[in-house]
Amino acid sequence: MPAAPAHRRDAAASEARRPSANPWKIDLRELGRRAGSMQELDRTIRAPEGWKVELIGVPADGDVRLDLRLESVMEGVLVSGEISVPLVGSCARCLEPVEDTLTLDIQELYAYEGSTTEATSEEDEVRLVEGDFLDLEPMARDTVVLSLPLSPVCDEDCGGLCVDCGQRIDDLPPDHAHEVTDPRWAGLAERLASSSGTPGDDDPTKEN
Ligand SMILES: [Zn+2]
Ligand SMILES: [Zn+2]
Repeated sequence: MPAAPAHRRDAAASEARRPSANPWKIDLRELGRRAGSMQELDRTIRAPEGWKVELIGVPADGDVRLDLRLESVMEGVLVSGEISVPLVGSCARCLEPVEDTLTLDIQELYAYEGSTTEATSEEDEVRLVEGDFLDLEPMARDTVVLSLPLSPVCDEDCGGLCVDCGQRIDDLPPDHAHEVTDPRWAGLAERLASSSGTPGDDDPTKEN
């Protein structure tokens, strides 16, 4: 049938034009505007670039997992649930790579244009339903980026780096220490070493 291929092409083209081809844009036509109607949204989307702070962030193309519930309310659509993202970065103390997963609660109202909520809120204070769609990306981005740690650590107890040699303290033996070069301290260090047995911990010459 000669008409079939052309028909398929048209279908593909219109698919590409639909705003829902953007996975962050949620089509609200199914949910409708009747207050109380509800829709589950379980979706995994590739992370865009730039969800990061200095030392840690979501890798571009990493899986952003959304487990959300959309609820139609008088003023708009209430979005609640969880967002979960992988994190990669480096430890602020020892610079070792850090990998983690961040899971955050979401509760956000998208107001209808013309609703009281929109009218009584500053422009940048409220997220809006755009026609039949809402865009989850700016909300997801803000939620994640504002929760990223400014000083991520590989471990809460990470000892950081030795100030003398720059090696990771956690990788060094517990008695790791450096030669005392200042002769004025040499005698004291020796006495401490013989009395406590752990010169590294009590070394008074160690810089902090
Ligand atoms: Zn560390
Ligand atoms: Zn050292």
